[in-house]
Amino acid sequence: MSDRRDSPPLIGITARHGQTSEHLPAVLLLRPYVTAIVEAGGVPILIPPDLPEEGWRTLLERLDGILFSGGADIAIERYGGQPHPAVYLDPIRDDLELPLMQAALAADKAVLGICRGCQVMNVALGGTLYTHIADQLPGALQHDQHNGDSPLPFEALTHIVQIESDSQLAHILGTCSVQVNSLHHQGIKDLAPGLRATAFAPDGLIEGIELPGHRFALAIQWHPEWLTEHAPMRRLFQAFVQAARASRAS
Ligand code: MN
Repeated sequence: MSDRRDSPPLIGITARHGQTSEHLPAVLLLRPYVTAIVEAGGVPILIPPDLPEEGWRTLLERLDGILFSGGADIAIERYGGQPHPAVYLDPIRDDLELPLMQAALAADKAVLGICRGCQVMNVALGGTLYTHIADQLPGALQHDQHNGDSPLPFEALTHIVQIESDSQLAHILGTCSVQVNSLHHQGIKDLAPGLRATAFAPDGLIEGIELPGHRFALAIQWHPEWLTEHAPMRRLFQAFVQAARASRAS
């Protein structure tokens, strides 16, 4: 009989409520997240946003890692943010994901945050956000390549990110600079206590964070799940799944 430690780790992925093309209610998770986890050797488990606390606490005990996926903005009351007409919300996700993030970090589960997930990590630990980068960060690049007059595909690489050489992120990616996609209009303003900013866009915006001392608590502002043809992005998912597996073995 095989030891459970040898079986693939269970990776929860946060999802959102939405509709099918026939306007039927659905729990939605874009396939590239799921594919990236499967290809990295994990077993993806969808986490619906309306799961009650007893449900997500039960799930958390059994999961080996959690991927906090991209999506709508966090409600500004959660971090004292500046109102802006471009803010779009999904409060049911805030209700689940902010306490889930805190509990997952406290339990030393492997955590990977992507885009909104990066912002969830920062806000859950006490940080703040720009509520619309274009109007609040002087000299900002265009970080929302999917919007505007000439939207680019999600896979397009639109800005570089410089990564601190002694960070976990640089170690995993195997490089100190990567070209990334950019599908966000918000970003980290004040970094939460305890977090380290490890990656930066040329305009100074934080694009990567990690929690020193934790086995794997890492979040990035770009979307590597659309970029898995690039080896460094595949290594990121592999390192996450490997950390999830190791957490179960210890
Ligand atoms: Mn960006």
